Amino acid sequence: MHEFIYPHQFHLIKQQLKTIVYAKDSSTDLNVVEAVREMALERIYNAFINLTDDQKNTLEPIHHISNKEEMETCLYSLKKQVIPFPKISQQMVEKAFPKAKKLKAPAMENIDLRETVYLRWYDKGSNKTYMLAPNEEKLVSLQGFLEPTQHKGICSICNGLEEVSLFTAERKGRIRGTYSKSGNYICKDSEVCNQNISTLEHLYFFIDHIK
Ligand SMILES: [Zn+2]
Repeated sequence: MHEFIYPHQFHLIKQQLKTIVYAKDSSTDLNVVEAVREMALERIYNAFINLTDDQKNTLEPIHHISNKEEMETCLYSLKKQVIPFPKISQQMVEKAFPKAKKLKAPAMENIDLRETVYLRWYDKGSNKTYMLAPNEEKLVSLQGFLEPTQHKGICSICNGLEEVSLFTAERKGRIRGTYSKSGNYICKDSEVCNQNISTLEHLYFFIDHIK
């Protein structure tokens, strides 16, 4: 079977299974626990369209989670079905950012590609932050400046309440050769941001705003 779970869907499954385990741990009312479980499962299934029978069978264990150990075992096996973020080569970086001279591909060794929705890295040489993010079936490239200062706020990419910094990108104006600036607050830490993403709608909106 082909991998069929996108990283953001995996994060959603993880978040929802946690709410089931939490309900089990904190409530003695079986009806409450069952209601939480039903809602969590519904949210998970709503994130998938046209599951095959094989895929349904793969997801089946999520119905029987009742403690942390079971959750972790389940997530461990589901993770094998996650479509990893592509390994980014130097050649791909040069193609994605043709004007960025000497920009190096990010170090991929320490990145968990099955938990990566979008890739973000800082380039010391240009003092810029670069991103490769999924949009429909392809990767789009974004670049801009990420302020070094941070504060608690809502991130435009993951919608989480986190330590955020202002990301400013230049975008092409309607008239050729003109530029306008657009700023958004985004998570300071891209790993935190990635983990928070369980739906792509905010990310798509962010890309639309920048591009
Ligand atoms: Zn974020």
